[in-house]
Amino acid sequence: PHADPAKGAAVKAADRAHVFHSWSAQELIDPLAVAGAEGAHFWDYEGNRYLDFTSGLVYTNIGYQHPKVVTAVQEQAGRLATFAPAFAIDVRSEAARLIAERTPGDLDKIFFTNGGAEAVENAARMARVHTGRPKILSAYRSYHGATAAAINLTGDPRRWASDNGSAGVVRFWAPFLYRSPFYAKTEEQECARALRHLEDTIAYEGPQSIAAIILETIPGTAGIMVPPPGYLPGVREICDRYGIVLVLDEVMAGFGRTGTWFAAEHFDVVPDLLTFAKGVNSGYVPLGGVAISGEIADTFARRPYPGGLTYSGHPLACAAAVATIDVMAEEGVVEHAARIGRDVLGPGLRDLADRHPSVGEVRGLGAFWALELVRDPDTREPLVPYNASGEANAPMTAFATACKKSGLWPFINMNRTHVVPACNISETEAKDGLTLLDEALTVADAHL
Ligand code: PLP
Repeated sequence: PHADPAKGAAVKAADRAHVFHSWSAQELIDPLAVAGAEGAHFWDYEGNRYLDFTSGLVYTNIGYQHPKVVTAVQEQAGRLATFAPAFAIDVRSEAARLIAERTPGDLDKIFFTNGGAEAVENAARMARVHTGRPKILSAYRSYHGATAAAINLTGDPRRWASDNGSAGVVRFWAPFLYRSPFYAKTEEQECARALRHLEDTIAYEGPQSIAAIILETIPGTAGIMVPPPGYLPGVREICDRYGIVLVLDEVMAGFGRTGTWFAAEHFDVVPDLLTFAKGVNSGYVPLGGVAISGEIADTFARRPYPGGLTYSGHPLACAAAVATIDVMAEEGVVEHAARIGRDVLGPGLRDLADRHPSVGEVRGLGAFWALELVRDPDTREPLVPYNASGEANAPMTAFATACKKSGLWPFINMNRTHVVPACNISETEAKDGLTLLDEALTVADAHL
């Protein structure tokens, strides 16, 4: 990359003047002007190159600028750049087929959206119309998107400012042994108590009033908490018993991230609805959707589905999905993610945890890992308080700054850093990233 600081300054100035950024106090942010990206890297206008351990927002599963996907989007733009959703379009049909063939069980019908929040929004609507019941149960420590139903299903502080449409949403605690809500000492206890707590919640809410339970198969932004093996099968059984729709949100965990096409495969569970976005086409063009079971599809076989979007199944987005899924299959990206997790990231991160007292726990699989940073490994006191900002968050800010100075772009949420690079990151790049993380963690160690 060649430097062009003057161009960078102009890009930044127009951004500061006119772009209103997500989740931010507009005058307190300082967005980096990015000049380009390729594979697992991006660079700025000053000539600095960064290894991206975030995959954007955990979505560039095949990395930036994959030539086959870029070409597919270009060709589609030349052939048929757009078309309304009521028609049958070749790339839309093909994308739906490729997705349906990979989703578990009988999830064979695909409703396309523009992203993850709309997928959750429509899954909630489908479940409510299908069951005729009003309530949806969702977990604390979750993120489901920022539109009306999706933000109200979200179990993190981003919901608070929009917490006025929560009618019908009831939250519960899902398993997380390291910070167990159930005072459990073992995975077995955590699993049994979490299922019992869910059953109790259902009993007190009234099973006949509950349309759906929504869970991220493996919660992502909230901390990559891989559930104990029996948990999701247990939830599936509870849903079956009460006629409750099980929605698994795989917006972040799906499409290779965990070393399988969908994370549900790890637990042998088939949901009734599965939401996806991000990795479906590595975000080259916005796309999300809901994969729908036979039973729920039947509900809308002779009765209209009361929902839709102008850009549902947009040809450019679908062309990117077809090409991305082809690339993932041809290049063995899913198997690569499993192997890089098992052989490189997992062992490398555990080694960092052994040497850095600020690392309280390492957890994850595939290209999907979290490091829990703590002030004290015995008490597990987080390096910064929950939802800290400003001075209280200074240790995490210092850690992030150290990463960026060394050329590593880190994913930070609360007291955690997540290692979520492109699923096709090379072994050398992954090891380079671990070396940079090693240096930056000394900054976190200094707060012990
Ligand atoms: N669901 C999950 C599990 C997510 O991680 C996200 C985004 O991070 C969403 C839903 C919302 O997706 P989007 O930002 O595309 O609306």
